[in-house]
Amino acid sequence: MVQIKTPEQIAKMREAGLVVAAIHAATREAAVPGATTRDLDEVARKVIADHGAKSNFLGYGGFPATICTSVNEVVVHGIPDDKTVLKDGDIISIDAGAIVDGWHGDAAYTAFVGSGHAPELIELSRVTEESMWAGIAAMRLGARLVDISKAIEGYIKRQPRPAVGDHSLGRYGIIEDYGGHGIGTEMHMDPHLLNYVSRKRGKGPKLVPGLCLAIEPMVSLGTPRTEVLADDWTVITTDGTWSSHWEHSVALTEEGPLVLTAVDGGKAKLAELGVTAAPDPLA
Ligand code: MG
Repeated sequence: MVQIKTPEQIAKMREAGLVVAAIHAATREAAVPGATTRDLDEVARKVIADHGAKSNFLGYGGFPATICTSVNEVVVHGIPDDKTVLKDGDIISIDAGAIVDGWHGDAAYTAFVGSGHAPELIELSRVTEESMWAGIAAMRLGARLVDISKAIEGYIKRQPRPAVGDHSLGRYGIIEDYGGHGIGTEMHMDPHLLNYVSRKRGKGPKLVPGLCLAIEPMVSLGTPRTEVLADDWTVITTDGTWSSHWEHSVALTEEGPLVLTAVDGGKAKLAELGVTAAPDPLA
């Protein structure tokens, strides 16, 4: 069953979303060479406490931290620790969430540690982020869930193939083992949102006002396949290629999509794509 929210409930989810946005801002500043992933977790923990919110990651299925820190070939679910020290040239995907009055927010971004990143890494993150926005822009009243999947996959497939200098690497790997999800009174709810179109899945539910989704493409410079390390959490690409992860929680309203975890509600980016974001209920 898909949980449909009232406008008042969406306003609560917006509060949670803004806490997540604050975690993003603080961890982005802290993700510098020499920092450990545990340092970033500590930053996130403090932001949640300062807002009087709760963590939805800590203790989720036994997860031992407040954020996921996924460095380089780690796709998602990396566990912050003391021994992972960020280096110049690394990329890190930070996935964070928060709960306010029982309502959840969840969002992720990829950051560049230090400077001097290869053009293909900058392009990888750009393609992943833009595919997320293409998915968000496809969240229209009357459309179907599959239209979001189609927009994400279509965006990635229309891009020039990744290359190192003149050497083409082949297609981007759209990670298939993980995807987006409904969100509300729990972090992960129905429906599951694929980042590609599967004939087996059908068109999925109709997109109606009150539907809230976490839209989160994960893309690698090589394989779409992943494996989980012995810690039972850390997900890596099977070929060791580096990957990017971007995510926003989005509410569909009568007035269009509201990007709950973006400071401006998605207004600026959606306008570029010809979509009017719903007004911010807290503004
Ligand atoms: Mg998520």
